[in-house]
Amino acid sequence: MRTKIIAGNWKMNKGINDSKALAASIVEKANSINGVDIVLCPTYLSLSSVAEAIKGSNCKLGAQDAHWEDDGAYTGKISVSMLKEAGVEYVILGHSEQRQFFNETDETVNKKVVKVLAAELKPIICVGESLEQREAEKTEEVVIAQVKGAYANISEEDAQKTVVAYEPIWAIGTGKTASTAQAQEVHATIRKLLAELYSQSTADSIRIQYGGSMKPENAKDLLSQPDIDGGLIGGAALKPDSFIGIIEAA
Ligand code: PEP
Repeated sequence: MRTKIIAGNWKMNKGINDSKALAASIVEKANSINGVDIVLCPTYLSLSSVAEAIKGSNCKLGAQDAHWEDDGAYTGKISVSMLKEAGVEYVILGHSEQRQFFNETDETVNKKVVKVLAAELKPIICVGESLEQREAEKTEEVVIAQVKGAYANISEEDAQKTVVAYEPIWAIGTGKTASTAQAQEVHATIRKLLAELYSQSTADSIRIQYGGSMKPENAKDLLSQPDIDGGLIGGAALKPDSFIGIIEAA
């Protein structure tokens, strides 16, 4: 049985003080909820204040990216050891906004996955098709290539520590959600691929989140699908009541 995982991707929202306040109000309500892994992913700048706010609670800290080098002349980048020191446990990698605006490729995602796992952090690996790709019936092909790229040369033991987030790009921040059937179909495809790459038991142990305009109103249906093991939440993660509503649905 896979424990559901709900992660809030705060993107480039909330400064240090607002992040602390948001984390504190989530913690207040989330502390009475058991059986769900809850992850908050603020900006790098707010990692420390959120770490402080969630201390002793059932919420975990996540980052929105990491660089694949240990240290050095990489202006603007953050290493996995820095994230670890800040108390991070999960790292979102390959988000579609990174792919779209910051030249992220399957190759750079893979380099980051390797580094994050080596630091004993858990990658949340994002994959998903654009609207054009879906309309051209290329969803399966695109998602399979992204998953294969991300997991290249990753051992079975390490693969078991990963989380996948299936996020159709056309559903991110648009208010459009994939239907439960559309989402379940792609999740099942990803799990089948993971079984081919590794084994059925490893595929059965890897959690696959759905992301794309998930909110309390649609969370229950999506999360009741057999292969949907949680959510990566953008907009709704910035409102404590909405985020808690999704956690309660999980
Ligand atoms: C995301 O960016 O990971 C996301 C799912 O955003 P939203 O929930 O706002 O669609």
